[in-house]
Amino acid sequence: NLRVVLASRPVGEPVLSDFRVESVPVPEVSSGQLLLRTRYLSLDPYMRGRMSDAKSYAEPMAVGDVMVGGTVCDVIESREPGIDVGDIVLAFSGWQQYAVADARHVRKLDPRLAPPRTALGVLGMPGFTAYAGLLEIGRPQPGETVVVAAASGPVGSAVGQIAKIKGARAVGIAGGPEKCAYLTELGFDAAIDHRAPNFAEQLAAAVPGGIDVYFENVGGAVWDAVLPLLNTYARVPVCGLISQYNRTSRPEGPDRAPALMSAILTRSLTIRGFIQSEFVGTRYADFIGEMSEWVHQGRVQYREDIVNGLENAPAAFIGMLEGRNFGKLIVNVGMT
Ligand code: NDP
Repeated sequence: NLRVVLASRPVGEPVLSDFRVESVPVPEVSSGQLLLRTRYLSLDPYMRGRMSDAKSYAEPMAVGDVMVGGTVCDVIESREPGIDVGDIVLAFSGWQQYAVADARHVRKLDPRLAPPRTALGVLGMPGFTAYAGLLEIGRPQPGETVVVAAASGPVGSAVGQIAKIKGARAVGIAGGPEKCAYLTELGFDAAIDHRAPNFAEQLAAAVPGGIDVYFENVGGAVWDAVLPLLNTYARVPVCGLISQYNRTSRPEGPDRAPALMSAILTRSLTIRGFIQSEFVGTRYADFIGEMSEWVHQGRVQYREDIVNGLENAPAAFIGMLEGRNFGKLIVNVGMT
């Protein structure tokens, strides 16, 4: 039973020695619990925050803890009526091959309805983040322009495609020509490479009528290029700031907060952060219904980036923070 624990808190970019692979006995199951064998582990940007002890919306992991994460698992032993050996469940059992979980903390998946891995991506937390953030805060109207960065990932790709379904124009920002070509295949109206030297000019040219909704996944230089292009009454759901997650010091240069406040005031901007869990009670059922339908109809497509072997999870996770993943990053734990 292999597992990956937090060996040390990263300073800046995580390195392989911040993780440790351990072999431990398979745990015992008590009443109301299940023994799970992990098939797939989801790797997500929020895990970087949990590795730090900076104050955030969630408790940090302790050094030595198993790395947290959503999983798709086979039930191999059950002490809970209604869940059987052989069932497939969505769990939060982390970076390990075997885990014991309370039955009330897992959700049964029906593989006849959708491939189980989609519960980690388009029909899971990232897809819900896109749906709730865009529709609750962004509220795109027909004919408006929606811009999203990290646009080839599970959150950004869903944002752009839902924007299209709502009749808006979708402009995606991604790293490199391959990811940009993929956005065009998905039906984005334009795709801009944020690594291009004239990125800000290219973005401005792609939004001749300005930006009505900017779904913020990235921050940093991308935000700097977006801010001057925001229209009066633009909405900015602040979902993530991945360009800042490995930052160790404050950015250089003058304090730009006053200019930002002035832009918010004079252009009547709405800039609103959110954590997807706050919308689960009100929007999750709508999400599952609508998004399943859109996926089924091919109106929302998704791409997965599958890495084989739990021992390869740390390198894959480090790579994701640098943009080396292409699609929803998932570890196929079952291969080892
Ligand atoms: P992705 O699969 O899109 O992976 C992250 C991507 O971010 C990378 O592939 C890279 O894409 C891009 N990126 C990394 N560094 C930079 C940079 N400096 N500048 C521009 N782009 C960069 O991740 P997800 O779809 O899972 O997550 C997207 C965002 O949503 C993250 O910020 C995440 O924290 C946030 N999130 C927030 C939630 C919430 O509840 N608020 C819930 C879930 C996710 P590229 O090569 O295109 O640059």
